[in-house]
Amino acid sequence: MSSFGEVLSVNYTGDIFLLPAGALIKKRSLFDVVQFSKVAGSRFWSGSENIIFNTPQQGINWIGGFPACRGVIVKVRPGAYDHDGWGGAEKKFYNYSLKARNGVVSETEKANRVLINQPQYGYPIFLFSDDKDSWLYEGEFSVSELHAEYVVLERGRVKGDFLVAAQSELDYQEGGKRYVSHLMAERNRAVVQQVKDSNRDWCCDICGIRFADRYGVDYIEAHHKKPISTFSGPHSVTVSDFALVCPNCHRAVHILMRQNHSRYSDIKSELQMRASF
Ligand SMILES: [Zn+2]
Ligand SMILES: [Zn+2]
Repeated sequence: MSSFGEVLSVNYTGDIFLLPAGALIKKRSLFDVVQFSKVAGSRFWSGSENIIFNTPQQGINWIGGFPACRGVIVKVRPGAYDHDGWGGAEKKFYNYSLKARNGVVSETEKANRVLINQPQYGYPIFLFSDDKDSWLYEGEFSVSELHAEYVVLERGRVKGDFLVAAQSELDYQEGGKRYVSHLMAERNRAVVQQVKDSNRDWCCDICGIRFADRYGVDYIEAHHKKPISTFSGPHSVTVSDFALVCPNCHRAVHILMRQNHSRYSDIKSELQMRASF
């Protein structure tokens, strides 16, 4: 990384991982790194794992392979599209439009998949916003909500505990998309908060343990019971779709879901039968 006055230049893909939030980046330098990271022998080359895919003119690029890439670069001009812009003055959330052709969002397009897949893999999203001749590096973000036409990027590494289990199984065959939708539903802040605020006792739906009784702290997780069969986002999610479960049972449910794609009610009876709660 090099600096001209207050504006930084990136020289290699690795520099992107080290940028301080709030830094101004010379546009040309980011363009060159994206363009020439693929060219073995160029001065921007730093190995095949550091290749940046998609062209520099595109608003979105990803680092390393697909789908388990190492990071995503998102460049934005707030207000450029319908759903594009900051969700609030404190810049904690950014609504980012998915790529559409003739008004239809393609869920198979890689530029969209790297965002849709992010909750499962947990790689960082580096957000850059337009600032004349520079990019303002806003920091690391994660996808926290999936909607039909856009995603909500949330500042920081948003990573539920249960994602660790998901990431250890990187097979991405049929069911993968459905599973990601499931994780997105469980990250829907508004609905999950409603579930927890509902009058339900915070007892695990499966083993019946109340965390506060057992450990002295209030804690519960919301599990989305219904498989989501379509790409449509969490706006179709309601409070009654969720079960409140303890983290142990929740983890077991997710592992079983991944193994045999069974319904929540079946998994619940299976688990309840195993242990005589
Ligand atoms: Zn439990
Ligand atoms: Zn769950």
